Amino acid sequence: MKVLVLNCGSSSLKYQLFAMPEEAVLIKGTVEKIGSEEGTHSYKSDGKEGSVTAPILDHREALRQVLATLTAGEVGVLSSAEEIAAVGHRVVHGGEAFSSSILVTDDVKRAIADTIELAPLHNPANLLGIEAMEDVLPSVPQVAVFDTAFHQTMPQEHYLYPVPYVLYQRHKVRRYGFHGTSHRYCASRVPGLVGRDLSALKVISCHIGNGASLAAIERGRSIDTSMGMTPLEGVMMGTRSGDIDPSLHEFVMAKEGLSFDELTSMLNKHSGLFGVSGLSGDMRKVVEARAKGSMRASLAFAMYEYRIRKYIGAYAAAMNGVDVILFTAGVGENSPLLRGLICDNLTYLGVELDPAANDHGQGERLISTPASKVKVCVIPTNEELMIARDTNVLVTGMLAKEES
Ligand code: ADP
Repeated sequence: MKVLVLNCGSSSLKYQLFAMPEEAVLIKGTVEKIGSEEGTHSYKSDGKEGSVTAPILDHREALRQVLATLTAGEVGVLSSAEEIAAVGHRVVHGGEAFSSSILVTDDVKRAIADTIELAPLHNPANLLGIEAMEDVLPSVPQVAVFDTAFHQTMPQEHYLYPVPYVLYQRHKVRRYGFHGTSHRYCASRVPGLVGRDLSALKVISCHIGNGASLAAIERGRSIDTSMGMTPLEGVMMGTRSGDIDPSLHEFVMAKEGLSFDELTSMLNKHSGLFGVSGLSGDMRKVVEARAKGSMRASLAFAMYEYRIRKYIGAYAAAMNGVDVILFTAGVGENSPLLRGLICDNLTYLGVELDPAANDHGQGERLISTPASKVKVCVIPTNEELMIARDTNVLVTGMLAKEES
């Protein structure tokens, strides 16, 4: 079965076409500047790369261009668009309505629309992608895979904020968490690395990319995660502050003459590594500047490491222990420096890092010594594959039901 995985943003669209159940990626690509005369579509397939610039005025047009490329002579991964048997969509927010992936129906679309006020930047674009796909390939089943779904197993005492309960009752003010598809994928790789089933393990998953979140995963279920009602809560990130005192708002707005929107923008786009270093939210640039002696880059890096380590300690406490710590995403997968500093300060938990495996190993691997009580792993994340798997399972089940 050919499964197209889509991640639609407001002006961009990322896709991968999978052959399932083989899990082979046939082509991947990105369309950017949707809504402009200078839309670009770049793709990569089996060593072949291409890029086209053309007017792409909406998501429908973007999808038509993608389908034209998939079936074009020089790329030729499909003989016709009808070969696409299912489409899986990344949807950022599923609110409390979705605790797993689901086949898209009108009710599901309504529920995604109902959560727009919780994710005003993401859910409208995700929904737009679903509707555009319905127009372009009307008879193909679609599946929604939610970033929040994996964390719906959090108990109430972990997901509620200590504010008047009525805010939860009236407006669903609570913690939801994100990066769930990545945490779920990485957790699924752990048994193969440590030789024990997830049902016997306490795992701390550290997804550290531009956005960053940790999840406490007990017996395969997320029981806590660092992002909250929005992705602003939690550890320090590339440009987001993570946890701060909410009273900072009033003080800073008054002192700096900022509007509420300006302050929100500051906390999301001009804080974190970028805000403290004054240089960049890109970890590679911060590490370079730190190596050249920049005090502010050094401070930003130290704060970043410290705040992740504090959450690891908190989650070890939350689960009354930890068996596995895993690192994933851009920084988590590629920064031995950060992993090393974090782990060197977790010896009290029984973490013993293998410096050679940490510094020089490649890809998915254990980076703790055989004697280490807590196993530490690097696991390259693969959210697209997880979406393809869910889509394959749900659509195969639906077709089997239709046949019987
Ligand atoms: P996103 O959250 O946008 O998916 P990624 O997971 O791709 O982001 O992570 C991007 C981050 O990973 C950037 O801060 C980048 O600097 C960092 N990164 C990538 N490679 C390295 C590296 N070799 N060392 C340190 N940081 C890295």
